[in-house]
Amino acid sequence: MEPNAYDWDLFVIGAGSGGVRAARTAAASGARVAVAEDRYLGGTCVNVGCVPKKLYSYAAHFHDAFEDAEGFGWRQAQPPSFDWPTLRDNKIGEIKRLNGIYSRLLEGAGVRLINGRARVVDAHHVAVGDEVYSAEKILVAVGGWPWIPDFPGSELALSSNEVFDLASFPERFLVLGGGYIAVEFASIFNGLGSDTHLVYRGELFLRGFDREVREFTRDQMAEKGVGLRFETNVERIDKGENGLLVTLTDGQVLEVDAVLSATGRRPHLEGLGLDALGVERDASGYLRVNDRFETSAPSVLALGDVIGGPELTPVALAEAMHLVRCHYADTPPSAPLDYRNIATAVFCHPNIGTVGLSEEQAREQYGEIRVYSAEFRPMKHTLSGSSERCLMKLIVDDASDVVVGAHMVGEEAGEVIQGIAIAVKAGLTKADFDATVGIHPTGAEEFVTMRTPTRR
Ligand code: NDP
Repeated sequence: MEPNAYDWDLFVIGAGSGGVRAARTAAASGARVAVAEDRYLGGTCVNVGCVPKKLYSYAAHFHDAFEDAEGFGWRQAQPPSFDWPTLRDNKIGEIKRLNGIYSRLLEGAGVRLINGRARVVDAHHVAVGDEVYSAEKILVAVGGWPWIPDFPGSELALSSNEVFDLASFPERFLVLGGGYIAVEFASIFNGLGSDTHLVYRGELFLRGFDREVREFTRDQMAEKGVGLRFETNVERIDKGENGLLVTLTDGQVLEVDAVLSATGRRPHLEGLGLDALGVERDASGYLRVNDRFETSAPSVLALGDVIGGPELTPVALAEAMHLVRCHYADTPPSAPLDYRNIATAVFCHPNIGTVGLSEEQAREQYGEIRVYSAEFRPMKHTLSGSSERCLMKLIVDDASDVVVGAHMVGEEAGEVIQGIAIAVKAGLTKADFDATVGIHPTGAEEFVTMRTPTRR
């Protein structure tokens, strides 16, 4: 079959961040593109991830804002109260609006949207319902799916897919896990007013992050009232008369209204037909791809959470654009996609922003390093009376003076680190940071005013 005899040049499975971006950019390059989606437009990020999470995080921050306001002279006639259905339903309205935008983006780009769960029939055919479509290339962009460990009563636990739309507000909330989702939701429900526990099997959450950042975040979250329980796990969940009874491996029993299992995500490949095609996976089940995002079946491409890189929307977007350049541009990229120095934020309260290496990684990679750090009470809290503190930290390779890591825990850390990330990505030196005049009075100016190493 000649390529032009296929129904489609590119058939994308999954209309999440990566799939939609690949579809639109490929179509803009002249390819004939279809996208199949069986659930919601925009994928995890728009529907049950980044977007609703950030909206809920804003909602939770008001808790502190009301308390902080008093020191600045504001008096409230009545204590503020929180109405969960208002937040939930306003969120639902906003997501619907975004779903519509995604639909119009695809339509505007000339991409055909097919509603339904797709199944790969062979290297060039995809079935959706009773229809079979031929395609020169098939892109698997199906993302991940929450995974809950198997223990007695695990079916009573929620995943991040359900937690946004609870019928009633959980006054007592328990999160299992110690990754991004666990710490973010512990902060959100704590801020919204739940009596919140976080249960994590390891000695300290956020494995892989800078140790000092993790310890500082632990202390700040505990100060805000999250009940942190490390080195324990959930053994079982039973239905009690007044709630769920959660038995921990250390023998304690907690009664709560909802349990969120934030115990990781797995590639969402069931029923997709890729195993019959012999498409290779790695030991964790992620699809293996080469630098051009081709799987072991070269006409089948894959990107995003299903290939097991950093599971972040901007990474899927970057992969999509790189993939399209590899397959549809006149001049393909000269180098593979660069995964170094990807900045990220964790929207726990206070937020974490981070780019580059942790102190531990830098010491291992470079040997001789300098660490500059500042831990302080933000100016706002001199009047608010809040005990919240802020941590900023730069890691410098001693030999080259290059800043190889920047970390912050504090208000709007993601916003601050996004700017710093450009400098780190560009390979700037500590001398370049020192030569930058600060903006006063801000917290972020600490990043250009730290002069004396805290340790070497
Ligand atoms: P993570 O993989 O980050 O964390 C999973 C957590 O669950 C870990 O703490 C892990 O413990 C624990 N865990 C795993 N298995 C078990 C088990 N059997 N019993 C008890 N605990 C267990 O996954 P998340 O679900 O938090 O998030 C998925 C991904 O989504 C993240 O990695 C991130 O890339 C992305 N994300 C990004 C966000 C952002 O950018 N702000 C926000 C939310 C998600 P251990 O550490 O011991 O392995």
